[in-house]
Amino acid sequence: MNEQEAIKAYMRRRGITRIRPTAALIDMDGTLYDSMGNHADAWYRLISGIGIECTRDEFFLYEGRTGASTINLLFNRAYGHDAAPEEAKELYHKKTLYFSDMPPVSPMPGAKEMVNTFLSNNITTVLVTGSGQNTLLNRLDTDYPGAFPTERRITSHDVKRGKPDPEPFIKAMTIVNASPEECIAVDNAPLGVKSGAASGAFTIGVTTGPIPREELSKAGADIVYSSMTELAQRLPILISIILQTGK
Ligand code: CA
Repeated sequence: MNEQEAIKAYMRRRGITRIRPTAALIDMDGTLYDSMGNHADAWYRLISGIGIECTRDEFFLYEGRTGASTINLLFNRAYGHDAAPEEAKELYHKKTLYFSDMPPVSPMPGAKEMVNTFLSNNITTVLVTGSGQNTLLNRLDTDYPGAFPTERRITSHDVKRGKPDPEPFIKAMTIVNASPEECIAVDNAPLGVKSGAASGAFTIGVTTGPIPREELSKAGADIVYSSMTELAQRLPILISIILQTGK
């Protein structure tokens, strides 16, 4: 589906004839940072280390969930119950330490251009992540100056129900006082795309890991790009088509 068709389909579904975006709600891991491999390694080290059988690749499927939610999913599979809240907290802390020990990750190629395109079109950028990983959160101001000040961040600390629930994206809309139709969500994972689509935002899916693009379409993405570089190239066109709506 091209941009024009994607926008038309979105407007039809929302029952609107015009879109004027004011905010872009942007995921962090696998979208702003090439960090998913390290996360999968850290999770695998943690979970296999406590004797729960798992594979490294399965952690790509849990991308977007909060740490506690991933831990409980694995506990339920192995033992049939959640982890005690204190234990979950401790385990997640351990996972963040393992992640910090790994080689530093780079910003995703194309992500800076994407952010700059939004900002130069007066579209405010907001971070929407299920992560509470300070290793990356603390780098945002350096890697994306001015784009994600602390008051424009939704992290695992701000939500009760993480992705795939729409709560994180809805909360992000509240902090910038935008309606769903004024927002563009960007996420690379099926659960994140599901959350963005359920929030009512125009949702861009970007495949940056081993998940095939059909999975993002199935999760409800309005349009899917095959890399952040492709999204960066196409975004000015997408925005100009959006700004033509209702004219
Ligand atoms: Ca992600």
